[in-house]
Amino acid sequence: MEKKGTPLSELGEFGLIDHLTNAIKLQNDSSQLGVGDDAAVLNYKNKKVLVTTDLLLEGIHFNMVYTPLKHLGYKAVVVNISDIVAMNAIPKQITVSIGVSARYTVEMLDELYDGIRLACEVYAVDLVGGDTSSSLTGLTISITCVGEGDDETLSYRNGAKDTDLICVTGDLGSAFMGLQLLEREQKVLKEVGGVQPDFAGFEYLLQRQLKPEARLDVVKSLRDKNIIPTSMIDISDGLSSELLHICKQSRVGCRIYEERIPVDFQTAKLAEEFNMNLITAALNGGEDYELLFSVPLKYHDEIIKLPQVRIIGHITDESKGAFMITRGDETEIELVAQGWNGLG
Ligand code: ADP
Ligand code: MG
Repeated sequence: MEKKGTPLSELGEFGLIDHLTNAIKLQNDSSQLGVGDDAAVLNYKNKKVLVTTDLLLEGIHFNMVYTPLKHLGYKAVVVNISDIVAMNAIPKQITVSIGVSARYTVEMLDELYDGIRLACEVYAVDLVGGDTSSSLTGLTISITCVGEGDDETLSYRNGAKDTDLICVTGDLGSAFMGLQLLEREQKVLKEVGGVQPDFAGFEYLLQRQLKPEARLDVVKSLRDKNIIPTSMIDISDGLSSELLHICKQSRVGCRIYEERIPVDFQTAKLAEEFNMNLITAALNGGEDYELLFSVPLKYHDEIIKLPQVRIIGHITDESKGAFMITRGDETEIELVAQGWNGLG
């Protein structure tokens, strides 16, 4: 992992900050002043301002053995953007704070910032500040994301109502299976050594784990159709756990249908190869960063026209509890939360 390169001490703190931030061009009207003064200045006029932050520690949230730094930078930004998007709001600015040990070189931080800048470009977000410090061990990244929304269109976790449709975007369990694959290859590498990892046929799973995307596209499509979710959350800890958050905070119950839970072919194939229960991976696997939301029943015909969205069930009265109805025999299984300590 360790590479030869320019020691951070060669640039010094200010030289390094300048090196990492000098090419930044601000693209949002709300970014009045970015890097370079004691604080950034944002101008949100009459909008609501949303703020979210995440702390990522090497060895806890990411593993340098199989995480390319560019991907790490990208993912660190995306998980924050995902939290703003999950409020039905639009991300606009980030700040990035890093703690780095002497093991890291200027070139390694360049890779990290390549990923950070790419995510900023893809999601039209401005990097407006941060902080830089040396650390005794490893790499620490803390990102804060600021976004804008309107009172009338923000979606909270507590607004789901009886009979609402429950929707999810994309597919579930693939980021978790990607992690299983990476961990297997790391083990093989340790035990056998020297062999090239074999990821053939599972590229999508790796991409989902290493370079996830936030569903800003879905928030925009819903906006185009004038649909405001009654509740919304991003799926970082697994469908089951997130759905229970919505149920608890909205004081409702739910029924979801196993056969409707979207799963990719590669996820199913690897689950079979690893002898793992597919639906457990889809219900409890973390880090998909898809959206889970509820909408009033009247939007059914509009929702089914959205290619990225699947209706997986409906909200019920609180007294009915939270259950999944299994494929085939249609037994009801109570949903349980199995938190997932992943990135984000
Ligand atoms: P201060 O002493 O006020 O904390 P710094 O010297 O740490 O200021 O930072 C100078 C400028 O560079 C500030 O605008 C700050 O937001 C920005 N900055 C510092 N570190 C980073 C970083 N890692 N990424 C992006 N911007 C940074
Ligand atoms: Mg500082």
